[in-house]
Amino acid sequence: MKERDSVGSERSRAKRNRPASVTSPVSVWKEKENVGGNIVDTGVVILRTSGCRHFSDGGCSMCGYNVESRDGISEADLAAQFKNASARLDDIEFLKVYTSGSFLDDRETPNGIRELILRWCADRGLRLLVESRAQFVTDDVMNALTGIHGDLEIAIGLESANDRVLKYAINKNMTVADYDRAATAVKKAGASLRSYVLLKPPFLTEAEAVEDALATAKHAALQSDTISVNPVNVQKGTLVELLWRNWAYRPPWLWSVMEVLNSCTALDRKIVCEPTGGGKERGAHNCGSCDAYLLDAIRERSISQNRKDIETLECECKGMWESVVELEGLVADGTVDLQRMFRSRTH
Ligand SMILES: [Zn+2]
Repeated sequence: MKERDSVGSERSRAKRNRPASVTSPVSVWKEKENVGGNIVDTGVVILRTSGCRHFSDGGCSMCGYNVESRDGISEADLAAQFKNASARLDDIEFLKVYTSGSFLDDRETPNGIRELILRWCADRGLRLLVESRAQFVTDDVMNALTGIHGDLEIAIGLESANDRVLKYAINKNMTVADYDRAATAVKKAGASLRSYVLLKPPFLTEAEAVEDALATAKHAALQSDTISVNPVNVQKGTLVELLWRNWAYRPPWLWSVMEVLNSCTALDRKIVCEPTGGGKERGAHNCGSCDAYLLDAIRERSISQNRKDIETLECECKGMWESVVELEGLVADGTVDLQRMFRSRTH
């Protein structure tokens, strides 16, 4: 999620406006991003497509983005969506185009649309970022893309560098070897690689989740230029939501996010993190009183790329987080939301 920034709220807004026209993008907004040490104005477009191919195989346990997809979206519809979106993006130096699936999947984004967007960026000298599942990233596809526009960044969800976590906790339908092959294709074609690292897939304890994210970031750093740390947020209609409703899942603590980010500094890569739904019950959160401070520090670090550790303020909840990290695996066979349980018992 993806590095889906404020997408949570953008997406809910888009959903309320149903029925959405097939010629309007899901969402368009501007944000800041650090590119090569410069903080640049960045445009973000979410195109409405036929959706992620993996959704028909059950989809990933934490991903609910398919709600924005529609059947029967034509190439002309997508061209109209992009025209509509690009008219709202002036004075940008970087463009991110998301589809809630894979930009490199022909069924979602036909070649004509890919070319249209690449040429639009090439004409304006803009860097372009798109996302894809690893299975669609091949040497041929990559060479065709970079042949049109060289300043290209491909984002791939590695999520976990552990095949068992990929299979049983995420249902990613991809192996680490699949990711490695795709990453190599991106680099060989001269494009930049951004890898998504998931923090706290379901069925992992808080301590296991931190350990898994760190191992994953280390693996991603072998080929990636940028690593995006994505704390899980509870999206509608997902397995994660079902577990969460039954107290069997808690999104990661912000203390865990900070521990991962601070440890990632040693990897010497661009590290970005924008916790979707941060500070809320469905997103990465702490006790409520320290959340805003920590979220600001996390966002500021993503934009500045300041390599210093995030300054931590002291908060009483840090002790509870430390206890959860230490005890969660011992007190329950699996994961429970201990904090919510304690709170409801004492109220
Ligand atoms: Zn706190």
